[in-house]
Amino acid sequence: MTDADNATKILLSESEMPRRWYNIVPDLPSPPPPVLHPGTLQPIGPDDLAPLFPMALIEQEMTAERYVDIPEEVLDVYRLWRPSPLFRARRLEKALGTPAKIYYKYEGVSPAGSHKPNTAVPQAFYNAAAGVRRLTTETGAGQWGTALAFAAAQFGLECEIWQVRASYDQKPYRKIMIETFGATVHPSPSELTEAGRAILATDPGSPGSLGIAISEAVEVAAHHPDTHYALGSVLNHVLLHQTIIGEEALLQLAKVGAAPDVIVGCTGGGSNFAGLAFPFLREKLAGRMSPTIRAVEPASCPSLTKGTYAYDFGDTAGMTPLMKMHTLGHDFIPHPIHAGGLRYHGMSPLLSHVYELGLIEAVAKTQRECFEAGVRFARSEGIIPAPEPTHALAACVEEALRCKETGEEKVILTALCGHGHLDLPAYGRFLANDMEDHELSEQAVKAALAGLPSVPA
Ligand SMILES: *Cc1c(COP(=O)(O)O)cnc(C)c1O
Repeated sequence: MTDADNATKILLSESEMPRRWYNIVPDLPSPPPPVLHPGTLQPIGPDDLAPLFPMALIEQEMTAERYVDIPEEVLDVYRLWRPSPLFRARRLEKALGTPAKIYYKYEGVSPAGSHKPNTAVPQAFYNAAAGVRRLTTETGAGQWGTALAFAAAQFGLECEIWQVRASYDQKPYRKIMIETFGATVHPSPSELTEAGRAILATDPGSPGSLGIAISEAVEVAAHHPDTHYALGSVLNHVLLHQTIIGEEALLQLAKVGAAPDVIVGCTGGGSNFAGLAFPFLREKLAGRMSPTIRAVEPASCPSLTKGTYAYDFGDTAGMTPLMKMHTLGHDFIPHPIHAGGLRYHGMSPLLSHVYELGLIEAVAKTQRECFEAGVRFARSEGIIPAPEPTHALAACVEEALRCKETGEEKVILTALCGHGHLDLPAYGRFLANDMEDHELSEQAVKAALAGLPSVPA
């Protein structure tokens, strides 16, 4: 047996940590469609985004460069938890009786317990460098809010967060974590913004949604010159920052001489999935490996598998630019499933484009199947996954059991993008057999899509 056959935890030293992020755009057969100004319907330019973002991030949003150097100040903070470990899930393989080899890249070792600080840290850094005083943002499950609160504290920024009401009530520990890192949290919809007041006027008991919370955070940033807005997923620069996950995983798999046959990941806005998958897709497009790449989304919020590829707003109030993406409609409010981070009406425009090009597949899973995989994983590997990556694990288990039937020794790679230590009530519900499955009906999809803005082709 070689070391590679024995390895359970595959580590990189700090000096082996990648020093640049990867931008997939120049390697794609065609560029993604332009982002449009909601008033003129013309492609937006850097100045249109300047009230919300610092120029360094706007440049990254639009860059045609294949690689972007990671600033030394960001690498310094990354070193608190990066490089993150890659594990071979030997005990899960054994429990499933599969000949497949399962690897998972674990991002739960970060200060927020997820992949979100990979982008929160550079976003806070570039804003602080541009002289911004305060950041606003939305958060669903609270992961992104925690990450940005931590990152803001690293660079001396104030941070104000609108948290989706359903999660604010279900997950009080996230709020305490955010406040411990020094940020302020409001439940959304709130009385603090026009967007929030408009929703509360028609629905005082609104559970909120990421789209509503984004409207509130954007509104406050747009009205204050010293305040910028930060988004935790969806945008190109967020996906760019997350590619450090895939770049590390490539180096780690090379250490054990493995190449993935299947890559699975969960998709909310698409950032952890793209972060893991894009560096491997680069290798695939260059003919150096040929993994099947599969996105997994919740059946109750299936933007890739049931949404339409169309121009839509990123928020509920319709304040953001129009982005062409797989969407369920900007006023769609998903059922409050436990995977709060996957409750977003749209998919990253860049990932949507990659999907349209046929470079990735997508499947949808209901939450009980996901929690079953999560519990199975916890019992064998000793980590309780966040509800979001249980979607990836369900697809992982499915693939591994397929290998058991066919006898194929496939290499499966997934991102375990966060731990579930603050999501234990959801596990409690599952263990007590008190969890329902929600699948979006065709009728509900039709109703949701009725509110799409009309954009001439
Ligand atoms: C935010 C979050 C997600 C969803 O966001 P993506 O941009 O799709 O990665 C998934 N998992 C966890 C743990 C999250 O915190």
